[in-house]
Amino acid sequence: MPLSPSVLKALIATPAISPMAKSTPKLTKTALGWAAHDSSGKLTPFIFKRRENGVDDVTIKILYCGMCRTDVHFAKNDWGNTAYPIVPGYEITGIVIKVGSNVSNFKIGGRVGVGYVAASCLDCELCKSFQENYCDHMRPVYNSIHWDGSPTYGGYSTMLVADHRYVVHIPESLPMDRAAPLMGAGLTVYTAMKHSNLFESQGKHMAVIGLGGVGHMAIKFGKAFGHHVTVISTSPSKEKDAKEKLGADGFILSTDLKQMQRNRRSLDFVIDTVSAKHSLGPYLELLKVNGIISIVGEPAQPIEVPATPLIYGKKVIRGSIIGSVKEIQEMIYFCGEHNILCDIEVVSTDKINEAFDRLAKNDVKFRFVLNVAGHQSSKL
Ligand code: NAP
Repeated sequence: MPLSPSVLKALIATPAISPMAKSTPKLTKTALGWAAHDSSGKLTPFIFKRRENGVDDVTIKILYCGMCRTDVHFAKNDWGNTAYPIVPGYEITGIVIKVGSNVSNFKIGGRVGVGYVAASCLDCELCKSFQENYCDHMRPVYNSIHWDGSPTYGGYSTMLVADHRYVVHIPESLPMDRAAPLMGAGLTVYTAMKHSNLFESQGKHMAVIGLGGVGHMAIKFGKAFGHHVTVISTSPSKEKDAKEKLGADGFILSTDLKQMQRNRRSLDFVIDTVSAKHSLGPYLELLKVNGIISIVGEPAQPIEVPATPLIYGKKVIRGSIIGSVKEIQEMIYFCGEHNILCDIEVVSTDKINEAFDRLAKNDVKFRFVLNVAGHQSSKL
């Protein structure tokens, strides 16, 4: 999810022009984080300051943070726009420990979550229509500059000060560790599917390309929405889990041309979560006429799109980035009602680099979640 270097530079130069500028800009609160300092992506303990809790803010003691492939992309500067030091992490759950005087919807002790968006202009058409994740002035929760001029640092840390307009409630029924990746992986597929009308309709044939952190949630939402769900994967070893553990109806090994051929023109909708360079050509062949492919994976290199399978089937390619705060809350309540949770492996902070390496090697079932609360210095 890159901000270009020029945008970052402009952000740094932007005067505090939004309502959020009223938040206290003083950097007084000490936090412990895990930061990458160069493109090796190696994470080391990092003490830094966060802003004082402003009138619109809540301070959150972070319990858990999901480890998304996005964090690896940023830590290793895959997109060429990383501003070091970087504290990754945007799938955050925790407990409110302080509330500002303007905040009435959160209380101390409340169970909350924070996703990718830390701030937006609150004034444009997109912000006013609950699409602030597409606001031109959207500020991510890390690798960005907050309205007060301070760098944003993410959830691989003990504490976060967040504007309450970008915070959601987590119901008691959802465990905080397994709920953390809902803030990113869950939200990403939920909104991509919703905006392609998979929420209202039922019985569609859909597929997910890539059975990783984001991909495994597409099976869960796909089944909850009432669809026939197929996994398209490069890893034969994932078939058993896909079908028996996660509930997929079908499995296509994308490296097996016969299997791909057999499934030609069989799908109404495909969600592409692949994090590496690839061509859409073989996947476009799997779509029916008028079928939709929604891109959510973000490889560093451009995705190849051959014209022939696209135009000979009136096929649609669209993209989607995370979701709005309203959609996060809606999704979280939906998960509470339907008992939808992420399949995770909890990682202690001393194993953070091991988890990062395994994530880069496609060795995780299906999301690592950093146990920040378990860190001995988490009182910081
Ligand atoms: P992940 O856990 O590493 O999963 C990615 C999956 O892609 C892998 O498990 C693998 O699945 C498949 N894959 C990897 N290399 C491949 C290749 N060369 N060809 C085909 N498939 C390949 O990563 P993630 O956390 O799910 O994130 C996936 C991507 O989505 C990342 O680029 C991330 O930055 C992006 N993302 C976007 C949004 C958004 O809002 N748009 C939100 C979150 C993440 P198989 O083994 O099954 O093939």
